[in-house]
Amino acid sequence: IKEFAGKTVLVVGIAKSGYAAASLLHKLGAHVIVNDKVKLDGNLLAQQLAATGMEVVCGSHPLELLERDVAMIVKNPGIPYTNPIVAEAVRRNLPVVTEVELAYLVSEAPFVGITGSNGKTTTTTLLFEMLREGQKQPLIAGNIGTVACEVAQEATADNVIVTELSSFQLMGIQAFHPHIAILLNLFEAHLDYHGTKEEYGRAKAQLFTNQTPNDYSVVNADDADVMRLAERSHGRLVLFSTRQSLPDGACIQDGALYFRGERVMALEEIALPGQHNLENILAAMSAAKLLGVSNEAIAAVLRTFTGVKHRLQYIGTVEQRKFYNDSKATNILATQKALSAFTQPVILLAGGLDRGNEFDDLLPYLGHVKALVTFGQTAPKLMRTAAEAGIKTIKRVDTLEQAVPEAYALSDEGDVILLSPACASWDQFKTFEDRGDMFIQAVHKLV
Ligand code: ADP
Repeated sequence: IKEFAGKTVLVVGIAKSGYAAASLLHKLGAHVIVNDKVKLDGNLLAQQLAATGMEVVCGSHPLELLERDVAMIVKNPGIPYTNPIVAEAVRRNLPVVTEVELAYLVSEAPFVGITGSNGKTTTTTLLFEMLREGQKQPLIAGNIGTVACEVAQEATADNVIVTELSSFQLMGIQAFHPHIAILLNLFEAHLDYHGTKEEYGRAKAQLFTNQTPNDYSVVNADDADVMRLAERSHGRLVLFSTRQSLPDGACIQDGALYFRGERVMALEEIALPGQHNLENILAAMSAAKLLGVSNEAIAAVLRTFTGVKHRLQYIGTVEQRKFYNDSKATNILATQKALSAFTQPVILLAGGLDRGNEFDDLLPYLGHVKALVTFGQTAPKLMRTAAEAGIKTIKRVDTLEQAVPEAYALSDEGDVILLSPACASWDQFKTFEDRGDMFIQAVHKLV
């Protein structure tokens, strides 16, 4: 549907994205029913929507809502398909989509969609900066910045919308297709929601399924799972690799970035640290080049871009100890990458929500970790892994706030003190941003 006037659309789950979707649909003349689990009393967003004349049903998800000649259901990406109203809608073959589908339906601008287990925000930000430097009028949507359907309303055909897509969002698309799709990597994150790695992969592959031969799929040639999914693309494949030379794709050769055989810039000029970021850089560079950005504009961004907050973010140096905030490392892969970014001795601050996994996959990366300071639900598991790795100093504390002075007391000149929790933050914090901010504050208190 592109015409929403007079249609009834059910928005399930308000939050930021549901609010934006409902407002947009209302503006387009749809009859919007907003449904949220949280009671109206104290539900500020629901009250605001009700004040604009929308029908708001709060407190539960009554199945009767589906009897209302509903043309489409826009669900919050966080609501699982096992939720009874969603499951029933699917059973009745009603279109169940996420807000990004709506953004696509109302937008005149082409999309670049970026997904993967790790590196989405960094790549999205990098590409946005490159397009801006190259005068391509980009708009950024998603996790950082504004909700996609809000951005889409204002976009013209001259803009390009760069958006980060989680697998939760991708599961709820039907027609959406990005002109350029980027798949960075696949790692067994979020299995608690998606069940199996196959399911998770299927969700990610949704990014490609609607592409046409006029579109591009930029994919990581170094990741076998990614390459397997890329077979489902109907777009033109553009590969990138940090390990092999790719004459038709993006790669690293003679200490420089190359795209389709052409030298773009020297690696030593790149400000962003970490081997993993080379993947993000190659992916962003590929998309920028496909959209016509010059090497000069790409280089100008890479010479100054030092990273997004909470992603291996350099905080500062206290008495010759360097502090890094990698609070966004909510899984093992991210912490592996963070540890690989350093050669000097590291004091690792880790721990958080227990998703049921073990931490054995960290073992090969702990060689230069001289101490672990751990907190949160996974502390006992991390202590076991650290002991197995032969780390001599293992400390457990109650809070991150306590972990910082503890780590400092254990450190020597030249050490790196790294928060890279390998776990989600929800056992002790509202968000990973809160966790990172707490770390930064605690570091500043040392001075
Ligand atoms: P996302 O948006 O996918 O969560 P971010 O760019 O926010 O990704 O980075 C999240 C974490 O993952 C960071 O802590 C960073 O150290 C790590 N990371 C970033 N890029 C990659 C990559 N290409 N491969 C593996 N880990 C990465």
